[in-house]
Amino acid sequence: MPGFEIFSDEERKEVMDVLETGVLFRYNFENNRKGHWKAASFEKDLCNKLNVGYCHLCSSGTAALNIALATCGIGAGDEVIVPPFTFLATIEAVLMAGATPVFAEIDETLCLDPADIEKKISEKTRAVLVVHMCGSMAKIDAIHQVCEKNHVLLIEDACQSLGSTYKGKALGSFGSMGCFSFDYVKTITCGEGGGVITNDEQLYTAAHAFADHGHDHLGADRGQDKHPILGYNFRISELNAAVGLAQLRKLDLILEKQRQSKNIYKQILSSCSAVTFRDIPDTDGDSSTFLSILLPDENKTRTALKLFNDSEISGAIYWYDNNWHYIRQWEHLKTLKWPARLTLTALDATCDYQNVSVPLSDAIMARTLSFQIKLSETETDVTRHANQLKQVLDQL
Ligand SMILES: *Cc1c(COP(=O)(O)O)cnc(C)c1O
Repeated sequence: MPGFEIFSDEERKEVMDVLETGVLFRYNFENNRKGHWKAASFEKDLCNKLNVGYCHLCSSGTAALNIALATCGIGAGDEVIVPPFTFLATIEAVLMAGATPVFAEIDETLCLDPADIEKKISEKTRAVLVVHMCGSMAKIDAIHQVCEKNHVLLIEDACQSLGSTYKGKALGSFGSMGCFSFDYVKTITCGEGGGVITNDEQLYTAAHAFADHGHDHLGADRGQDKHPILGYNFRISELNAAVGLAQLRKLDLILEKQRQSKNIYKQILSSCSAVTFRDIPDTDGDSSTFLSILLPDENKTRTALKLFNDSEISGAIYWYDNNWHYIRQWEHLKTLKWPARLTLTALDATCDYQNVSVPLSDAIMARTLSFQIKLSETETDVTRHANQLKQVLDQL
């Protein structure tokens, strides 16, 4: 998965361009910057790569979610449908927006289930925030249809799925806005960074302004900018953008390598009778950052983990128990431990987060194991690891 594994002279060169001019800021200073516009270049390259009209680079994936929610008009009192399997930033961004996260079930795509989304839609639902987890996709066309039919917006958290496509179309480009993260462990990294994409010019203009205190960015002198809206500081620095620019050029290589490795895992494990693979609506579009398998039940999954452990086979991630990405571990969410009074509390709009019931998601996550596809692993490493896994899984 992570681009940090292939950090090299190309990233250093881009950063040196910036250090040599000393212009660490993405706007203005034309006379000093010697033609280097790292953030703007990244945005252009990402638009080309994903075939979308607009991109705005920002300080993090979390910031991207905040920008998307605000510029799509999601705020106090609005309900946003979210999955119980995600990195917590998705939920925190909804809280930060003043809105109310409402949990719907996932299906075997490990992403939101379109049928359950429809059940959770209420009069207050303004948006569905679908998360394309672990490098692959939700049933995005079905979810898009549910959103259209019920007149709610679709926003995509594609932070973990850069480069993934569904029927040739980039994840992040199905809804009103798509969000990406370029933090240190994502498919490509800026060190810290994020981005929003959209095909809607008005949303882009609002996002660009909102991410920089409402500046309209129309002139060459920032001091003279107008401010059509209020906003915040979600800017990225040129240093971070420079790293990302070099990393983005490596994306195709990263995807190719991951896909090759994942194919080897899948070929070797497909003969294990206990194993089914995560449902991937379009396997050709899978960015292949992870291999996720489902075992017959929770007991067998726990047995497999014990056997892996006994024979010192590493790499299995059991999200259900021991990671930050599933609702079972979110004690601080269940008790809404925010340092200050939350909008949803003030509006009396809280759900009963102590007792969120997602039995279908529990049943899926209890028998799901994921393995990260590492760029540093050679074909021989991958084959050896896959055969070790197979030996254990054949015992179940
Ligand atoms: C990483 C991640 C984020 C947040 O991105 P940061 O850049 O770390 O703020 C949001 N959502 C998901 C699904 C992520 O994996």
